[in-house]
Amino acid sequence: MNTTMTMTMTPTELAAAIPKAELHIHIEGSLEPELIFALAQRNGLSLPYASEAALREAYAFTNLQSFLDIYYAGASVLLHEADFHDMAWAYFLRAKADNVVHAELFFDPQTHTARGVSVATVIQGLASACARAKAELGISAELILCFLRHLSEEEAFATLEAALPHREQFIGVGLDSSEVGHPPSKFSRVFARCRELGLRIVAHAGEEGPPAYIWEALNDLKTERIDHGVRSLEDPALVAELAKRRTPLTVCPLSNLKLCVVNDLGDHPMKRLLDAGLCATVNSDDPAYFGGYMNANFTQTVQALDLSREHVITLARNSFEASFVSGARRAELMAALDRAVATA
Ligand SMILES: [Zn+2]
Repeated sequence: MNTTMTMTMTPTELAAAIPKAELHIHIEGSLEPELIFALAQRNGLSLPYASEAALREAYAFTNLQSFLDIYYAGASVLLHEADFHDMAWAYFLRAKADNVVHAELFFDPQTHTARGVSVATVIQGLASACARAKAELGISAELILCFLRHLSEEEAFATLEAALPHREQFIGVGLDSSEVGHPPSKFSRVFARCRELGLRIVAHAGEEGPPAYIWEALNDLKTERIDHGVRSLEDPALVAELAKRRTPLTVCPLSNLKLCVVNDLGDHPMKRLLDAGLCATVNSDDPAYFGGYMNANFTQTVQALDLSREHVITLARNSFEASFVSGARRAELMAALDRAVATA
């Protein structure tokens, strides 16, 4: 063993090598064009794109909505339990390659129930892939059900009711889709019900929406994490509150770049969030659409912002601190991280 060489691992190499958790991944956003076409063929569906390359070319987004339009079109090939299983399994293989050891997957039941696919089909297909990831890859995985915020709170309630027979298969609820014009407070009552049910609470806020939406997510929804939250830096009182509560932010750098939340990764707020003492984490959001999975997000962010080894280690530690694992599992993950850092 050449210790001199291993001690020279750069921040980028270190980021790729160490274990970490992914807490902000929409599993429908991991559908690669190749799998979209394969599932379309398996299910006898035709797509409005001539080829996988033509579909990939359409991934030139200008904002969140232009992405969502294609995202929902891609998800239309998911019909059967096996389709949901195969989609999640493809993600887990990529996660394994990036040394992701724990993942909490968002899924959008309403994207599928609107097409006549039952909640049971969605959840059972995803849950079986999570069990397989644990058994075959050693990745612990959980599911978080997300409500589509461009739809009504009544529809969110109906989705929750439909999912409750499968309560044991998901640990929490989140809020995603078009942010602007759909503040968290629109969903106060359904989130109150979810808290009564003992579900963990997260919500997208402060990606395109203003800091006020982050305040609402904290105070009205009582969210335990903020998904994105990059606009929190516009409000010093909010930054202080997030630091005081140690509320994690699940930040997605390549998504922010691709959806033009930042124009250049060099302008990304990740370093400022860390330097402000916030529990920020790196995540891939919708990796098939935004140009990369976990390690691509780390690599490009580390390089663009010149992050240090300490920053990288902090980001990995934050990912375990922010995850909804048991105390025992968290200790195991932190210990694995310490061992990996010690030899890197
Ligand atoms: Zn997201």
